[in-house]
Amino acid sequence: MDVRRRSTNKPTTPMKMGVVVDDEKEPRASDALPLPLYLTNAVFFTLFFSVVYFLLTRWREKIRNSTPLHVVDLSEIVALVALVASFIYLLGFFGIDFVQSIFRPSADVWAADYDKNHAEELILDEDARKVPCGVDCAPPPPQVVETLASEEDEEIIKAVVAGTTPSYSLETKLGDCKRAAVIRREAVQRVTGKSLAGLPLEGFDYQSILGQCCEMPVGYVQIPVGIAGPLLLDGREYSVPMATTEGCLVASTNRGCKAIHLSGGATAVLLKDGMTRAPVVRFATAQRAAELKFFLEDPKNFDTLSMVFNRSSRFARLQTIKCAIAGKNLYIRFCCSTGDAMGMNMISKGVQNILDFLQKDFSDMDVIGLSGNFCSDKKPAAVNWIEGRGKSVVCEALISGDVVRKVLKTNVAALVELNMLKNLAGSALAGAPGGFNAHASNIVTAIYIATGQDPAQNVESSHCITMMEAVNDGKDLHVSVTMPSIEVGTVGGGTQLASQPACLNLLGVKGANREEPGSNARLLATIVAGSVLAGELSLMSALAAGQLVRSHMKYNRSSKDVSKVSS
Ligand code: ADP
Repeated sequence: MDVRRRSTNKPTTPMKMGVVVDDEKEPRASDALPLPLYLTNAVFFTLFFSVVYFLLTRWREKIRNSTPLHVVDLSEIVALVALVASFIYLLGFFGIDFVQSIFRPSADVWAADYDKNHAEELILDEDARKVPCGVDCAPPPPQVVETLASEEDEEIIKAVVAGTTPSYSLETKLGDCKRAAVIRREAVQRVTGKSLAGLPLEGFDYQSILGQCCEMPVGYVQIPVGIAGPLLLDGREYSVPMATTEGCLVASTNRGCKAIHLSGGATAVLLKDGMTRAPVVRFATAQRAAELKFFLEDPKNFDTLSMVFNRSSRFARLQTIKCAIAGKNLYIRFCCSTGDAMGMNMISKGVQNILDFLQKDFSDMDVIGLSGNFCSDKKPAAVNWIEGRGKSVVCEALISGDVVRKVLKTNVAALVELNMLKNLAGSALAGAPGGFNAHASNIVTAIYIATGQDPAQNVESSHCITMMEAVNDGKDLHVSVTMPSIEVGTVGGGTQLASQPACLNLLGVKGANREEPGSNARLLATIVAGSVLAGELSLMSALAAGQLVRSHMKYNRSSKDVSKVSS
């Protein structure tokens, strides 16, 4: 496709040496001086004319008194020195500029020449790209650019703008996902009159998201990925990728990892592994709804039901069926293992199989929705907190008192007290289901984005109760996080795009585990819990240390170096 670039109506922003220069407020070298130039100019002008006046007066007096001109006193010597100095200054400032202006070409030519002469040096110094770049090197692209399409594409853009070609149909119509994104992007810019210049378009495989991850793409958002760790968990070290724009989050988690590592590591236990889906069905009477409930919960029927359910996938295995009734309406919570997939698609197919099967014996059953919110997906719900959803994990560590003091900069008693009053009592007062922690969702979400999980599931995945207890006669700290609803997968969804598998690979859990299906996803869940443990330790310590500092200052009991308090 013929894609040319042109600048928009806005004046382009010329870039020199990697600095964007604004035309209207062009910075000058003099901006860097400690004194403004007009001040020094005024001083030297005044000095120059004052000494000239002084010397002329003195010379007139000498001529009148017939004193020889070469006989000078101290004040005249000082005046002469000042005259020479101010003359040199004024000549340097105005004279050179005047002479140069006679021969100097226009500013643009100068800039082009400068760039030409310094191109190679700039690239080596500024870009560190070891590629020689001579006079043909193209100038850096202007910041605000838009694509100008070929005639054929221009026609399609106009059709999308006019609404005669639906934007969503571009991929199918063109058979080229990248070209569809380019055209759609241009159409969006024209329709809205807003530039998408800062949103990257290049460097993304648009084919890979077709029909799976995102519809009607026009680019992608960049999120930096930092690494916390090593997290020593169950005897193995993990470098934990975290995608976040929250400053200090990775650093803080890293500090928690260090404390865990120095204390011998953390241990995680997977308590449960089952994804849930709960359709809502309706009958004419509550009695009929109850009959279906008894049928589904009768152990005698489980084998038949699971056989029907498991047809959906070789990885889906029905575990339990639990029902809740609201009048004539029945909510059926199916729970199944899903291998290495997070499993929402898989379980939905299994549930559909069962509903189709039930229609034979319960033909009066009206299926209202495949999901009736008793599942419960992406919403805060006590059912997940109590029953669990996805992977349920408990993770613990014994942090030595020394490490609490030296790495976490606080003490065991302060941590235990803060945990009780904040994470337990405070959250109880707030009525927060599953929110008995300091910031589990920070760590969960950052890892989810980095590893291609569904970030919306951070709602229930961040359910966590953090416990802290003084042990070994109060010397050391036992800390644990219990997380009943970690919903993760290593296949499907965003885990198969270009960058997310790299993060999964770093953790050694990329893709499906062929020897033991499901073990990659389970390991990932324990790593999430271990990282949350690190994050909880670090933030709680920062809070406890801050509290200590405040009380020390209040009661003036200590002159400790408070500058070392970190968060
Ligand atoms: P989800 O159910 O999490 O939305 P998908 O259904 O999109 O995930 O992806 C799971 C797909 O991956 C299924 O088609 C499944 O057959 C396949 N698959 C391959 N290996 C595994 C595995 N080890 N565990 C689970 N699914 C696997």
